[in-house]
Amino acid sequence: MQKTLKQLHEELKNGIITIDALVDTSKKTIKEKDGDIHALLGMYSDTLVASQIAQAKEMFADGTATILTGIPIVLKDNILVKGEIATGASKILENYVATYDATVVKKLRDAGAILIGRANMDEFAMGGSTENSAYGVTKNPHDTTRVAGGSSGGSAAIVAYGGVPVSLGSDTGGSIRQPASFCGIVGLKTTYGNVSRFGLMAMGSSLDQIGPFANSVEDVEEVYNIITGYDVMDSTSLTVESRKQKVESLKKVIGVPMSFVNREGIDAEVLTNFNVSIEKLKSAGYTIKDITINQVEKALSVYYIVMFAEVSSNLARYDGIRYGLSHPGETSIKSYFESRTAGFGAEVRRRILLGTYVLSSGYYDAYYNKANIVREMLKKEFAKVFTEVDIIATPTSPVPAFAIGEKSHDPLAMYLADIFTVPVNIVGVPAISIPSGKTATGLPLGIQFIAPHNGEDTLFMYGKAFEKLG
Ligand code: GLN
Repeated sequence: MQKTLKQLHEELKNGIITIDALVDTSKKTIKEKDGDIHALLGMYSDTLVASQIAQAKEMFADGTATILTGIPIVLKDNILVKGEIATGASKILENYVATYDATVVKKLRDAGAILIGRANMDEFAMGGSTENSAYGVTKNPHDTTRVAGGSSGGSAAIVAYGGVPVSLGSDTGGSIRQPASFCGIVGLKTTYGNVSRFGLMAMGSSLDQIGPFANSVEDVEEVYNIITGYDVMDSTSLTVESRKQKVESLKKVIGVPMSFVNREGIDAEVLTNFNVSIEKLKSAGYTIKDITINQVEKALSVYYIVMFAEVSSNLARYDGIRYGLSHPGETSIKSYFESRTAGFGAEVRRRILLGTYVLSSGYYDAYYNKANIVREMLKKEFAKVFTEVDIIATPTSPVPAFAIGEKSHDPLAMYLADIFTVPVNIVGVPAISIPSGKTATGLPLGIQFIAPHNGEDTLFMYGKAFEKLG
C-alpha cells in the first residue's frame, strides 16, 4: 500500500523521513523499474532538483510547508519548466529548452514540490496508448505486454509502479482518465478553465486541461487544490466569481446512461464490473437513475472535428524556423515542409491534414460549424441531466488495457475507445476515474464519475465514498 500525501507530510514534518531520502527512494525505484516500463523521457537537471530540495527544507524549517513540500513529482512532457527540456514526445522539439514556467509549475514550486522528471506521452498528446511517442512506448506496469494508456501514459505508469506519489498529465479527450483506468490509479480532469493552461503545449485549446494522477481520491484533491486558480495568463481561466456557482445541496442520485454504456464494442468484463460498482453504490444508499443524454454518442464525431481543427491551427507554430528541429530548404516553404515532415509522426500529420480539411472554405460550415452547433446542444443536454442527478457514472474506457500494437495501425478503433471520455471535454465539465476492480487476468478497470461545471468537490465526495466500498 502506497503512503498517502498526508502520511508522507506527517513523516517529513516529524523527521521520520527526510526529503533527501524521499527523493533518493524515488530515483532508486525509477532506476529499477523504468528501464522496462519507460514512463520517463528524462530527469530534470540536478541543479533544479537541488534548489527545490533546499527550498523545501527551508519551508519545513520556517513553518510554511504545504502538503506537497518535499514530495517528488513528475510532469507530462508537454508542461514547461524554465531552463529544462520539454519535447511533447515529438522529434520536432527534441532539444527544445523551455523559456518560462507553466503556471502549474509555478504553483507546485511555490508549494515546495520537488519536480524530478518528464513523463512519456503520445506525441503532442495525440493518442490513447503512448504508442505515438517519438521515443518509444510506455508499458503497463500490471502487464508489460500491454499499453499504459494515453496520451498521459508515462504519468500514469510511474505513479502505478511507485516511482512518485503524484504526477500531472493533460486531458483533451480522456488522456488523464483513460491511462489512470488502465494503470489502476486515480486521475482527474478538471472543469475547463479551473487549472491554467499557460505553459501547456496546446493541442485542442477549447478542450485541454491539466490534472493530477495519484493513488487515492484524497491525494488527487490535495494536488487539485494547489494547482487550481484564476490565471491572468490564460484567457479562458475561470474567475473567482464564476467559480462560486457551485452546487449547494446534493440529491444522492447517480445518473447511469445505461443504453449509452451497454453498447456494441464494450468488453464483457468491463460491463460486469461496472454493474457490480453500481450495485455497490445502490447498497450504500445512493439512488441510481437510468438516464438518457440525448445525442451523447455524437460527442465522438464532434470531438474528432473540433480537436482536429484546433490541432491544425495550434501546430502551425512548429515551422522549423522559430524553434525546434530545422531542416533548411532552398526556399522558406521548402524549409517548412521538410522540417515538419522530418519532425512530426504519422498521427500528428494525419490530424493536421484532417483539421486543415475541416477548416477549409467550403467544408467549414459542413463540418466545423455543425460540430460547434452540436457541441452547444450537448452542453444543454448535460445541464438538463444535472438538474436531476449529482453525478453521472460510466466505465472510463470500454476496454481494459490493450496489447501493444493491437490498435496502433487502426486509428478508427483507437478513436472509438474514447467514447466515454470525450463528451466530458466537449461539454467542459469535470470528471474523475477511480479504480473499480480488475479483470480475471489482473488488468485494472476504472469507473468514471462526471459532475456539473465546478463540481470537483462533488466528485471528491462521491469518489471517496466509492473507494470505501472497496
Ligand atoms: N485519445 C484522445 C485522442 O487521441 C485523447 C487525447 C487527449 O486527451 N490528449 O485525441
